[in-house]
Amino acid sequence: MKPRILIIGGGLAGTTVAWRLLERGVPFMIVDRDEPLTSSKVAAGLVTPITGMRLNLNWRYDTIHPEALAFYRSVEQRLGTLFYHEVPIVRLLRDEGMAELWRNRSRQAEIQPYVNPAPQMPLVDEEVFSAPHGGFEMRHSGWMDTAAYLQASRRHFESLGCWQTGESDGSLVWRGEVFTHAVFCIGWEAARHPWFDWVPFRSARGTVLKLQADTQGERRIINRGCWLIPRADGTFRAGPTYELDFDVPFKPSPESILELEVKLHRLYKGRYAVLDAQTGVRPIVPRKRALIGFHPARPQVGFVNGLGSKGVLRAPWVARQFVEHLLDAKPVEAELDLAQNL
Ligand SMILES: Cc1cc2nc3c(=O)[nH]c(=O)nc-3n(C[C@H](O)[C@H](O)[C@H](O)COP(=O)(O)OP(=O)(O)OC[C@H]3O[C@@H](n4cnc5c(N)ncnc54)[C@H](O)[C@@H]3O)c2cc1C
Repeated sequence: MKPRILIIGGGLAGTTVAWRLLERGVPFMIVDRDEPLTSSKVAAGLVTPITGMRLNLNWRYDTIHPEALAFYRSVEQRLGTLFYHEVPIVRLLRDEGMAELWRNRSRQAEIQPYVNPAPQMPLVDEEVFSAPHGGFEMRHSGWMDTAAYLQASRRHFESLGCWQTGESDGSLVWRGEVFTHAVFCIGWEAARHPWFDWVPFRSARGTVLKLQADTQGERRIINRGCWLIPRADGTFRAGPTYELDFDVPFKPSPESILELEVKLHRLYKGRYAVLDAQTGVRPIVPRKRALIGFHPARPQVGFVNGLGSKGVLRAPWVARQFVEHLLDAKPVEAELDLAQNL
């Protein structure tokens, strides 16, 4: 029987799996609840080569980043729209300890391709940003307007008759149409689904602010404890928080807004106005880069999840591996294999 795939969930995971199936000419239907706020819709969308408190090179960035860039550019070309922005990211160092760490890290050969050797000096306008411990400017970095990617993809899939609003329970029959496989791409909510509640999720809520600010024309992304991302409409996004304990997934708490404003004051010296705050939940499986495969007792039920905080970077690579596993029976890398989490 020829494959015909029901994709449950139209976030970064489901949408990217759909594009990978389209590349292979395999029929599919995306079913999504069409909620106003989801992890993929509120994500900051950053793609960052050097990350975290340890200033490490993002895992396998040298291969996963070119694959992501080529994938998004090909979708942009097909849709005639632009949603992936290659922008330098300036990382301002928090304290002297981190500055010392950077002096050592920056000598490592693997880091060199991702650091601008001759950035503008001073690195940032110190009337606008606090940079007492210096910093560095990354290249091969950027951000994706995830909401724009999802929206443009949805419109395209609707025009092909393969995107519908609704809620699926995983049945292989959807509104009278029969599918060979149902692939769950439902993000953090999989932790509450009876078929997947054994997957060791430790998801984290995140809040981002939309701001009006005056950064004196700065168009790069600036980070010091929190990100400040310039948008095409002249506004900024600042964030995110990382909240492991939360009750309500999609309502920003006053504490998370306060936490972000404290961080923002450490980064940005100017006046600003908060226009909005949004919250989503990142689907995280600790120590995993993502998780893909088939349900152990339901071989027609697939799973693409666990994109964590790096959904934009990893979705094209993860979706390709899932589709190759589904269509070509190619083994999944151990790093991503759902079967190895039983
Ligand atoms: C505040 C914040 C900041 C972030 N910043 C970044 C960043 O800078 N860079 C980055 O790469 N990543 C970032 N992320 C992470 C990124 O957003 C996630 O990795 C990604 O969105 C996960 O996508 P997903 O498709 O797995 O899940 P989701 O986006 O949650 O999508 C799941 C979809 O499934 C639908 N659904 C659920 N159940 C059903 C059902 N039964 N039937 C039909 N539909 C269903 C939901 O409505 C939803 O549309 C951030 C996340 C947050 C919250």
